Amino acid sequence: MPRTHKTLPRLHIDTAMSAGVRLPLDKDQTNYLVNVLRRGQGDRCVVFNGRDGAFLAEIGQASKKTVELTLIEQSAEQPQAADLWYGFAPIKRLDYVVQKATEMGAGIIQPVITRYVQNPKVNPDKLRANAIEAAEQCEVLSVPRVDPAIPFVRLMETWQQVHGDRTLVFCDEETASTSPVDTIATLEGKRLGLLVGPEGGFAPEERDMLRAQPFVVAISLGPRILRADTAAVAALALIQAVAGDW
Ligand code: SAM
Repeated sequence: MPRTHKTLPRLHIDTAMSAGVRLPLDKDQTNYLVNVLRRGQGDRCVVFNGRDGAFLAEIGQASKKTVELTLIEQSAEQPQAADLWYGFAPIKRLDYVVQKATEMGAGIIQPVITRYVQNPKVNPDKLRANAIEAAEQCEVLSVPRVDPAIPFVRLMETWQQVHGDRTLVFCDEETASTSPVDTIATLEGKRLGLLVGPEGGFAPEERDMLRAQPFVVAISLGPRILRADTAAVAALALIQAVAGDW
């Protein structure tokens, strides 16, 4: 992405994109561009749909209610979608967790309903909106796929059939405190998933089930018990730095 475009507003618009196309914005996008960012006719922005890369666009007619963009040129090719799977037991700060996973390069995000999850109801549309908002802010061009919530036991039972050779890195707060760097380093080049538990941690039978799986690798995140959202960011950073795309 050319540096000049780093300062331009970025909008995710789920529609086909090519140079010269005119795109009307919806109410929220119009409000954001015109009323929040105070942009008007002739101003530029960057738009992306998660499939065709990024496009430099110019604001044509603009009123408080409607804005039309003209796509000028493609400013970035569509990168390969990230493949890192991130499973999390829903916690109160769901939007934060989805945003951080998007910023950290997760490609598939899936709520996993474990025994101690306090609020198993998740709204997939809201999760996807959080992922899109994070992608707009952190210049990610491929918005992570948000998969429907899955019960823990079903995830274990279907993992190999659904994920093939993907290794599941399991953050085990009860494992002896050691640096996970060497363990993660052995996973370099492999397809990876990461699973973080809920505020109440994994139930004993869940931990036993995880540790019994050939596709699971348990890691410690140090001697302190991290909040689930902190653990997510710490583990994603470790994976991306040691065996990922950093
Ligand atoms: N059972 C504890 C509790 O109720 O406070 C810990 C749960 S912790 C808040 C939520 C999740 O974060 C854990 O299930 C684990 O996946 C991850 N986690 C937190 N601290 C960790 C650590 N030191 N090592 C590995 N994973 C950790």
